[in-house]
Amino acid sequence: MRRRRNGKIIATLGPSSNDRDTITQLFDAGIDVFRLNFSHGTHEDHAKVHSIIRAVEAEKERPIAILADLQGPKLRVGLFENKSVELETGQTFRLDRDTALGDNTRVELPHPEIFAALTDGAQLLVNDGKIRLKVTSHTDTSAETEVMVGGEISNNKGVNVPDLVLPISPLTKKDRRDLDYALNMGVDWVAISFVQRAEDMTELREIVGMRAAIMAKLEKPAAIADLTGIVQLSDAVMVARGDLGVEMPQEKVPVIQKQILRRARQEGKPVVVATQMLESMIESPVPTRAESSDVATAVYDGADAVMLSAETAAGEFPVEAATAMNRIIIEVERDPYYRKSIDASTPEPGDTVADAISSSLNHVATVMPLAATFTYTESGFSSFRAARERPEAPVIGCTPNRETARRLALVWGVHAVCSESMSNVDEMVNNAIKVTLQEGFGEIGEIIAITAGMPFGRTGTTNMLRLTRLKNLD
Ligand code: PGA
Ligand code: MN
Repeated sequence: MRRRRNGKIIATLGPSSNDRDTITQLFDAGIDVFRLNFSHGTHEDHAKVHSIIRAVEAEKERPIAILADLQGPKLRVGLFENKSVELETGQTFRLDRDTALGDNTRVELPHPEIFAALTDGAQLLVNDGKIRLKVTSHTDTSAETEVMVGGEISNNKGVNVPDLVLPISPLTKKDRRDLDYALNMGVDWVAISFVQRAEDMTELREIVGMRAAIMAKLEKPAAIADLTGIVQLSDAVMVARGDLGVEMPQEKVPVIQKQILRRARQEGKPVVVATQMLESMIESPVPTRAESSDVATAVYDGADAVMLSAETAAGEFPVEAATAMNRIIIEVERDPYYRKSIDASTPEPGDTVADAISSSLNHVATVMPLAATFTYTESGFSSFRAARERPEAPVIGCTPNRETARRLALVWGVHAVCSESMSNVDEMVNNAIKVTLQEGFGEIGEIIAITAGMPFGRTGTTNMLRLTRLKNLD
């Protein structure tokens, strides 16, 4: 099974999609990466879904990436007696540390650090900024507010405090527990929310080590100010437009999205565009024209992956949403202008042997058509660097490590496969020919380019480029 596109699709799982049947259908519709959102659900829920994904992976015989998304210091209100309340503009509303269920006069806000940092006049934005509360007075455990813009507040809705800088670690106690659980369960990517500075990624890396790849969710003004440092210390980044659009003026989001895409490509780090991509599909079987256009723009701009959130987690049409995304990506990639714009924005190679080889591939492709770029990789690094060049021929990432193969599911254009470690060049060439033919990436007589490192089995040694013709081996 191979996908007929380079851009990848991430689907968030939730009540609408947590069962084996839907996960199978989502995979068939084009989902490459499944996101477990640790803002919701219990550890047992995630473990159950995790084992379903692994079962689907085994059934389909294709590596699937699982992304554990940690809530981070996302501030949320507590629970309401009747799940939600309607706040009227002009009324007063109290936020406090009382764990009692809320009503239309008050609700719990379980974050002591907010109360500690609060100032009178500060704005608290609830439910994606739809509701605005202004602090009129506060103590260490409560805040009286005036409702500036009313609306519905329901259980666990997010709170943003753009006026306050909270001197807190990006990993809360809950995140540390969730992270520990996710790593023991075995996830491929870990995303961390509300990153503010590059050191936040160092803190995450120290805990994760090599057990998973790490992704920074860019959703704070401070993170955009420290963009290069964060990208360099991450394995991938996400344009988390939901909170970004609450914390920053809306009109800046498209500009920042393009800025992040350019920076991430420059650094050779996969970049995900997320949130509200096909939002109307939560309730409708077809997207709006504007949504299709938004997904297309992300693809034209060279995103590695586009992401579905509530569309697949809580919507009525999860499979239709995946299908819609798949179709949009394929259509964009068919446009000759797409290739031109991707080529025009390909960054200069870095001065490493791996980059010298990756960039030579593009030159080879101008001399003779290649059926595939076959990268042997231990850690995945060589496949990441090959993908950074956005070569016209699909990138096959061949690795002895199942974990590497799964991580590569997120990366632009990479079709990952597992093979035993190779012990000599002949074996490596023959295996590349066999796998390329088997996976449907070429016909007898076509040329493939193989990159590998010698000595074999060592990471970071890519130093060889070999061209070979596909032939019958028996
Ligand atoms: P979230 O992150 O869905 O976890 O909030 C994405 C975003 O903010 O866009
Ligand atoms: Mn967010």
